[in-house]
Amino acid sequence: MRSCVVGGMIAIMVLNFCNYLCAGQVKEVSLVLVGDIMLGRLVDKMSLDVSDEFIWGDTISLLRNADISLGNLENVFTKSSEKVAKVFNFKAQPSQIRFLKSAHFTVLNMANNHSLDFSVTGLLETVSLLDDAGILHVGAGKNAELARAGTVITRHGCRVGILGVTDNEPCWDAGKNKPGIFYINTANAHARSKFCSFVAEFKKKHKLDMFILSIHWGPNMRLRPSKVFRRFAHQLIDAGVDILHGHSAHVVQGMEWYHNRLICYDTGDFVDDYAIDPELRNDLGVLVRVSWQNKSIKCIEIIPTIIKNCQVNKATGEDFKFLSQRLQNLSGEFGTAVAIDQIKHRLLLVRTEGLTFAREN
Ligand SMILES: [Zn+2]
Repeated sequence: MRSCVVGGMIAIMVLNFCNYLCAGQVKEVSLVLVGDIMLGRLVDKMSLDVSDEFIWGDTISLLRNADISLGNLENVFTKSSEKVAKVFNFKAQPSQIRFLKSAHFTVLNMANNHSLDFSVTGLLETVSLLDDAGILHVGAGKNAELARAGTVITRHGCRVGILGVTDNEPCWDAGKNKPGIFYINTANAHARSKFCSFVAEFKKKHKLDMFILSIHWGPNMRLRPSKVFRRFAHQLIDAGVDILHGHSAHVVQGMEWYHNRLICYDTGDFVDDYAIDPELRNDLGVLVRVSWQNKSIKCIEIIPTIIKNCQVNKATGEDFKFLSQRLQNLSGEFGTAVAIDQIKHRLLLVRTEGLTFAREN
């Protein structure tokens, strides 16, 4: 009898130990991706008196609850008035960094066409404010080494690497002793393949379990990536990128499930004061929540969002329907299915490659 009880206890202990080990090894990591965040101009002016959470609306808990959150920062935080010669220069008061802090952003991409809007002074002031706020940043820095360094973070034992790059503003490319951004010429086949080698080396060097590439690429206001971009995205995945986080078009483009990896060609605008194109609807964006276990992506949830009066919220009603259908159609063109969950106002990307969809007419 006694040996039976002891045997039972040992069995329970072994089982618990196995559960502990399994739980330790396979704990899910969650990532939230958003597109452009521009806190300058009207957002800066109108939000001086609002709470730190205001601009994030009802998306705040999604941002805060992720193990890692990543967005594209499209403005600098500076007192500098050294405007460089270009059409749009975006800056916010240094104190407005409070918004990014309140949303608990983990990493921001700064490889884009606004990081030097207020010259090197604006860039370096922003970098040091982000450092003081404990927010990581990729894609820009006081020299080429720092602009290209990316970042590596560990969550639940998983090594996650994030790199930021852009094909905008070639003159802002960082140099050995020149502050700037990580620039690549996506129009040049040699530059594309050289960058793929850099990506493969980065993944190997840092022994990454998951690798996210944040890329600010291509022209504004396009619903579809070019053929060159599609091919480049595939090459990047084949070189070792696990999740491609695209932005720059200001509109959400289709998503693709390719070789068990995720390509978000463009995540659109998340929060800004930009004029709205009534057809392209650049006020509609997405918050993409990806979770993985043991290097394998388990779930991709897409939450449509809408910007109104410099505040972002989850899209509902006709806005939700409009963006959901667009994403379904555009992703369908890549052979990727997106299921619509009307009740929770979200979409789920189906992790099956190369589906074909019957077209009406
Ligand atoms: Zn941009």
